[in-house]
Amino acid sequence: MLKKNLALLIVFLLAVSLLTACTVDEPCMYCDQSPSKEYKKKDGSAVYVCEDCSSTCMLCGREKATKHYESLLGIVFVCDDCYKMATR
Ligand SMILES: [Zn+2]
Ligand SMILES: [Zn+2]
Repeated sequence: MLKKNLALLIVFLLAVSLLTACTVDEPCMYCDQSPSKEYKKKDGSAVYVCEDCSSTCMLCGREKATKHYESLLGIVFVCDDCYKMATR
């Protein structure tokens, strides 16, 4: 039983560390503010985006951004509706 709990704990810690993008002192790629958060693109390069830019939808500018995807411009933060449109 103890071993099972330990394994669960390790899985939990891994999941938490994956979900939490680390806050760094790099300037945001959109507005040059820091601190920002690091996001990894598919090619492995890092992109830095601040809290402000990553919390508002970049396509409609009204809704709260809940998703992000990779485009030619970099990482784009969007709301649910715009995400569906953009990735269709
Ligand atoms: Zn920003
Ligand atoms: Zn939107």
